[in-house]
Amino acid sequence: MDVTVAKAWFQRYADVISEEKALLTRLDSAIGDGDHGANMARGWKAVQEELESFTGGLSDAFLLVSRTLISKVGGASGPLYGTVFLRMSMALKGKETIDETDWSNLLQQGAEGIAQRGKVTGGEKTMYDVWSVLPQAAEETAQQGEDELTLVTRLAQIAREKADATQEMKATKGRAAYLGDRSIGHKDPGAESTALLFDALRSTLA
Ligand code: ADP
Ligand code: MG
Ligand code: MG
Repeated sequence: MDVTVAKAWFQRYADVISEEKALLTRLDSAIGDGDHGANMARGWKAVQEELESFTGGLSDAFLLVSRTLISKVGGASGPLYGTVFLRMSMALKGKETIDETDWSNLLQQGAEGIAQRGKVTGGEKTMYDVWSVLPQAAEETAQQGEDELTLVTRLAQIAREKADATQEMKATKGRAAYLGDRSIGHKDPGAESTALLFDALRSTLA
């Protein structure tokens, strides 16, 4: 991944979020306050606009996303995704390009950022259930000698499985936790938007 790929990824994800806004709204209406679609669409539309005049490097592109999401998204997901992209931006400082061996560390930074900012651990039915398994999956796939597209395809598959698996979990963090057992049977909206993020990366590289 270089800055051209990163920009294409973010542009594509903004399009996906705009297309899937209703899905995210529906998921958040069932177990939250129904604004995850609107929150994400507002934030990523702003990212898309900011990218039009952007000329910086790889780390700067991630910083642009972080700043834009923090200022535009609000809610729980704004600072959480904002922290993910900030930590990744810091990890990318001084690098023009990364390859399959770098993804594990990058994802680890993102996952740690969510854990700290959200005071969350695995099994609480949040986006962290997706993020938390990706660093090791990346590490193992890179060790098998696979290329970046294969690695990212694997990440997208695992993210999809993990997001779908939040459906049967009981929420203990975020707004959904107020519902207790009634949160069971509904997929977590932030886990879904995370799965879409990695599928957008896969289709950008493919
Ligand atoms: P809000 O809940 O403030 O309305 P959003 O609807 O945009 O914000 O985002 C909700 C998503 O944020 C949830 O589906 C969940 O994945 C994630 N989330 C909420 N609280 C936490 C937390 N403490 N740790 C990790 N993720 C969280
Ligand atoms: Mg919400
Ligand atoms: Mg809200």
